[in-house]
Amino acid sequence: MASRKVIGFDMDGVIVDNCPLKVEIANKMGYSIKLADAPFEIIKNILKPEDLRALQTALYHDLKMSLGAKLMPGIVNLLRQIKSEKTPYFLVSRRSDPPIAIKLLCARGLWPEYFNESNAFFVAEPEEKNAKAKELRVTHYIDDETKILNVLTDVPNKFLFDRLNVFPEADHYTKVASHKELAKHLF
Ligand SMILES: [Mg+2]
Repeated sequence: MASRKVIGFDMDGVIVDNCPLKVEIANKMGYSIKLADAPFEIIKNILKPEDLRALQTALYHDLKMSLGAKLMPGIVNLLRQIKSEKTPYFLVSRRSDPPIAIKLLCARGLWPEYFNESNAFFVAEPEEKNAKAKELRVTHYIDDETKILNVLTDVPNKFLFDRLNVFPEADHYTKVASHKELAKHLF
């Protein structure tokens, strides 16, 4: 019998690892930041607002630049496992330029094999992630931002993907540092 588990994924910082690319771009702008400074909730406090905007434009709207992002280690194995047990899963991302997001997933071999028009959704606001997750009956959601997990009030199981171990533990989410670790909670 199929389980009732439904998994939702954030894209950046969970499926895609763009932290090395962020360090590279910020270094070129003259900031001497380290990998541990690259998660959005940290880098946003380091870069000047205009530089943060330029960084985000490069990451999410510049095709050539955005294609420099790598996959998070272990994500393909995890998706293969989820697919093989026929658990429904979705991508719910706040990328505002879906064609570029899709081109990146395509270039990394995830589109259309693991994500495609039937299970990938793009929304604008954090609260819309919750609404979409609720509509899709997501039971387990994985995000790399505490700000997002805080508004996912309709998702019973929330996971903070904290690869660099830069965020504190909290009661309302489970912290994982890798997809291998996440798999232990999902299966
Ligand atoms: Mg993210």
